[in-house]
Amino acid sequence: MTTHAGLTNESSPGKGNKSCPVCAQGYHSIYQCPIFMQATPKDRKTLIIKAKLCLNCLWYSHHTNQCSSIKVCKLCKLKHHILLHITSDHTSQYH
Ligand SMILES: [Zn+2]
Ligand SMILES: [Zn+2]
Ligand SMILES: [Zn+2]
Repeated sequence: MTTHAGLTNESSPGKGNKSCPVCAQGYHSIYQCPIFMQATPKDRKTLIIKAKLCLNCLWYSHHTNQCSSIKVCKLCKLKHHILLHITSDHTSQYH
């Protein structure tokens, strides 16, 4: 009898957990990603673009322009996630 040792079926693509799209170092959701949550909104946006996620709902199955979510940023009412909202430092005042 021959036994093939050493080869274990560890990865089953298309099934089970997806590693974090942002840091790829764990199986947490993006909201639990320490790298994402500790980043500034500006850096978060870069991370999302790099990970090819939707800027509006942070999901990975579609692009931002295909997002069917009706949610908008609560702060500025534009189509991006509130975690990606960049507050401008300079307070522009209109008379
Ligand atoms: Zn992560
Ligand atoms: Zn989306
Ligand atoms: Zn906003």
